[in-house]
Amino acid sequence: MIQVKNLTYTYPDGTTALRNINMEIGRGERVAVIGPNGAGKSTLFLHLNGILRPSAGEIIIDGEKINYSKSELIRIRQKVGIVFQNPDDQLFSPTVRDDVAFGPMNLGLSEDEVEERVRESLERVGMSGYEERAPHHLSGGEKKRVAIAGILAMKPEIMVLDEPTTGLDPETADEIIEILLELSSEGITVIISSHDVEILSQFAERIFVLNSGELIAEGTAGEIFGEP
Ligand code: ADP
Ligand code: ADP
Repeated sequence: MIQVKNLTYTYPDGTTALRNINMEIGRGERVAVIGPNGAGKSTLFLHLNGILRPSAGEIIIDGEKINYSKSELIRIRQKVGIVFQNPDDQLFSPTVRDDVAFGPMNLGLSEDEVEERVRESLERVGMSGYEERAPHHLSGGEKKRVAIAGILAMKPEIMVLDEPTTGLDPETADEIIEILLELSSEGITVIISSHDVEILSQFAERIFVLNSGELIAEGTAGEIFGEP
């Protein structure tokens, strides 16, 4: 369970990107955060695993307030995995295998365990057989899958994906959503941002609407977009 309490965040240049945000997300929920560009979605997501530290307020994960000690940040980042909007921000190894192995290797797992996690994660995103390929030569959809596999290899309880379907053709976007629905059915909490009403209606059990750094609405897709 994630609790965001009175979260306010101001960037070093003085831009206040989030103002007094309060939200609760339960275990296993499928949630979306929507809002125009600049609304604060990415800034909110970067708080959920401690990459950004609130200017005011707090983030509580499973009843524990993030305290930003080094050891705790390592633990939180294993529990809460973030997939950035642009996979190129996340894929930097010469091969797909090395990219997916990076996280579990940093956890200090044995070589066998790392290899097993790479195999399993690539299989779950439909990328088995791509181990030796260079990530930067893959298509947008394939890169996205590898980025998701890299997070899955950490065995997170919560996955946060910034615009996971933006820039993909509709068929590839649907395949990514299928993967996320399957992860959700296994009990992983999945949080996405999106602009695509159809995808949101299909995916999100609950939607939070951000505008200019404020949370202005919260509800089901039907409540937010109106019933068809
Ligand atoms: P969204 O993800 O909804 O597009 P962001 O969280 O990226 O919104 O941005 C929220 C606000 O914070 C915007 O006004 C944006 O320009 C600003 N912002 C984002 N990143 C930075 C940064 N590194 N430094 C200063 N301002 C930033
Ligand atoms: P998104 O809408 O997907 O959040 P943005 O265009 O808001 O993307 O931001 C893209 C990148 O630029 C992010 O890394 C964000 O932190 C950074 N950024 C956005 N606004 C600013 C800003 N005003 N000053 C510095 N960096 C910014």
